[in-house]
Parts: sequence; C-alpha cells; structure tokens
Amino acid sequence: MANLKTKAVVEGEEFVVNGAKQWISLVEVADNFLIFAKLGKEKGYRGIAAFIVEKEFSGVSTTSFHDKLGIRIGDTGEIILQDVRVPKENLLGQEGEGFKIAMSALDNGRFTVAAGACGLIKASIDASVEYCHERKAFGQEIGKFELIQEHLAYMQAGYDQSQLLVYKCAWMKNQGLQNTRETAIAKWQATNHASDAANRAIQIHGAKGYSGDFPVEHYWRNARANTILEGTNEIQKLIQGSFLLGYRKPTSLRCTLPAYEYDS
Ligand SMILES: Cc1cc2nc3c(=O)[nH]c(=O)nc-3n(C[C@H](O)[C@H](O)[C@H](O)COP(=O)(O)OP(=O)(O)OC[C@H]3O[C@@H](n4cnc5c(N)ncnc54)[C@H](O)[C@@H]3O)c2cc1C
Repeated sequence: MANLKTKAVVEGEEFVVNGAKQWISLVEVADNFLIFAKLGKEKGYRGIAAFIVEKEFSGVSTTSFHDKLGIRIGDTGEIILQDVRVPKENLLGQEGEGFKIAMSALDNGRFTVAAGACGLIKASIDASVEYCHERKAFGQEIGKFELIQEHLAYMQAGYDQSQLLVYKCAWMKNQGLQNTRETAIAKWQATNHASDAANRAIQIHGAKGYSGDFPVEHYWRNARANTILEGTNEIQKLIQGSFLLGYRKPTSLRCTLPAYEYDS
C-alpha cells in the first residue's frame, strides 16, 4: 500500500484511473475487480480510495502468467488500467477510506487462507496415513517406524493448533469483534504448518512423493503460495510485534459487519 502507484483523478462524475496490478488471482475470469488507487489530494494512507472496476470498462486489459509453481487450478496475472473512466457510484466507501477497506478485506482474505491451510494439513495427514499402511520396507508397514510416526505427530500438532486458531477467529468474526491480530497469527501459523505438513508428507512417500502420481507434491506446491499471498508471513509477524508494542491499534470501519445471529 505504501508503494501504491495506481492513480485516480476526478473528472466530472467519474474517476479516471491509471496503473497496473500484478499477481491478481482469477484475473481472466473475474468480472469485477477491487482496485485501490491514490487520489493525489492527501498524502499517505488517507489519500487512498477503493473502486469496483468492471472488466467491461474501456481501458481494462488482463493477461495470465504461466508456469506458476502451484494453485494452477486458478489463473493469476496482471490487470492494466489505462485511462479507465470509473463512475462515482463505483467508489467503495468514501474517498480516503481505501486503506481501511483494504485492511478489512485482508482480515477476511487471511481467514479464508488460514482455513484452507487447515484443509491442506488434513489432506497431507490422510494421504500419509494411507501410504504408511500401504508401503512396506524391511518387512513391515513404514507406519511402524517411529521416525515416520514422529512426522505424523508433528503434522497432527500443526493441524490441531491451526484449527484452534481458525476457530477462534471464526468465533470473533461471528461476535462482530475486531480480529486483525488474531487473523494474522492464524494465517501465519496455519500456512507455515501446511507447508511443513505437505513437506513431511512428501518425505513419508519417499521418491513417490516427488512424483505426480501421488497428490502430496501438489499439496506442497499449493501450500507454498499461502505463506506469500494475502501479505507474506513476515508481515503477519510484524503485525504481532506492532500490536504488542502498541505501535498499531485496531482500526474500525464506518460500517462493520453485525454479529451473526444464531437461531436459538
Ligand atoms: C498465487 C498468488 C496469488 C496472488 N493473488 C493476489 C491477488 O488476487 N491480489 C493481490 O493484490 N495480490 C495477490 N498476490 C500478491 C501477493 O499479495 C504479494 O505477492 C504479497 O503481498 C507479497 O508482495 P511481493 O510479492 O511484492 O513481495 P515483496 O513485498 O517484494 O517481499 C519480498 C520479501 O521481502 C519481505 N518483506 C517485504 N517487506 C517487508 C518488511 N516491511 N519487513 C520484513 N520483510 C519484508 C517479504 O516478506 C518477502 O519475503 C498473489 C500472490 C500469489 C503468489
């Protein structure tokens, strides 16, 4: 956000937006994009606005990257905005609220990444347990070897820890509580554990884990992206430090999601 280069200027009832965004998920299939741009009136975070840019708008073009390491099921690429005229009703929130909107979107995006990482850990455990019973070495199932059981133990510990962190965030979201720090730690821990679990799953599978015949190399490639996207895990650590030290405080939006109402 601090290095944001995309700019928007007001012209009558429209904003004219120029810039480019890279590494955008589903860039070729999305109909609408959430775009953040500098308005140039105020410096810093208060000068950022959020827009809904429709793919059909004149001046919008997209291209996909090829040969990504993982998450190949969905395309990722670049969007270029050249003199794109965005009507004022496509402004999200108010001018200058873009940074807060981005942070709020990340609180939700990071949560989904953390939850997905739990699924990856579980899939790595399931594939490994199955293989431990199937593969025999030195006359016995490899699951009988204690060092193999140690891998499984670490995977299970990572799963339980990650799941608890995700459930805690889910509970906070349902209560309508601010959850930036909690979501950041869930994303950091769950994605690290998912990478570790997929890596251990490959080890348990031996050479077969290094081939496309078993799903575990695929799990590792997908898990690897999650430590980078939605803010790298280094950034999630900085969030913990800055909250603890009081350098950062929870920020609330003008409109926040209400608490979830349970049926009694
Ligand atoms: C598969 C995939 C899908 C993505 N989808 C989207 C999308 O839909 N929309 C979108 O906007 N973005 C998307 N991204 C981009 C993603 O959000 C960025 O890659 C990520 O935020 C990191 O930014 P960067 O790549 O510029 O790394 P950089 O910022 O260049 O970081 C490089 C390294 O320096 C470290 N670093 C940087 N700043 C600091 C600091 N202050 N302190 C300590 N270390 C630091 C980082 O942690 C990292 O290790 C996607 C990325 C991937 C891989």
